[in-house]
Amino acid sequence: MADEVQRVYVASVDEEDGDSLALGCFSSGETAWQVLRTFLKKSDQMLLKSSSVVVWDIDVIGEDGVTILSTMECKDCPVCGRRTFWMDLENFSALCHGAACAAWVEESTIEPGVIDCGWPPIQFLKQAKDIEEAFKELFKIGDQMKAISQVDSLAENEPQEMLEDFENQTSSESSE
Ligand SMILES: [Zn+2]
Repeated sequence: MADEVQRVYVASVDEEDGDSLALGCFSSGETAWQVLRTFLKKSDQMLLKSSSVVVWDIDVIGEDGVTILSTMECKDCPVCGRRTFWMDLENFSALCHGAACAAWVEESTIEPGVIDCGWPPIQFLKQAKDIEEAFKELFKIGDQMKAISQVDSLAENEPQEMLEDFENQTSSESSE
């Protein structure tokens, strides 16, 4: 009895042309998230629109049996330009799942209403008054990285090599 599955967690992604891709049906939410996150790392290789994790209660008829845990939308990353930037619109947070990037935007847990954003490869962290401003900050970094690299988007190992150049550039700029 104790081992009987009462709920299943289903992860899926939707392609731009409307097709839905099932990633599996799991006995724990953690596993479903893990599978989804791994998949999203390569989301720039496909044309994806959105993703979701839902939980189904077994033996419940109709809509009452399903609860949506998360839906996310796919965007081009403001920093690396790859289509690996996933936004959770409900409890606002966004993260680039692309290798060597991890640009993020999130409402501050300490100061509600304030939006934090960051780019871990250079330990960039900034507070913004709204989401728009946070994205502008990330786009600025993206532009600077592009200017340094002279290419439209970063290859997987390039950010590391560019960090020095970037740091030199910003330290001369931001002596406020
Ligand atoms: Zn990125």
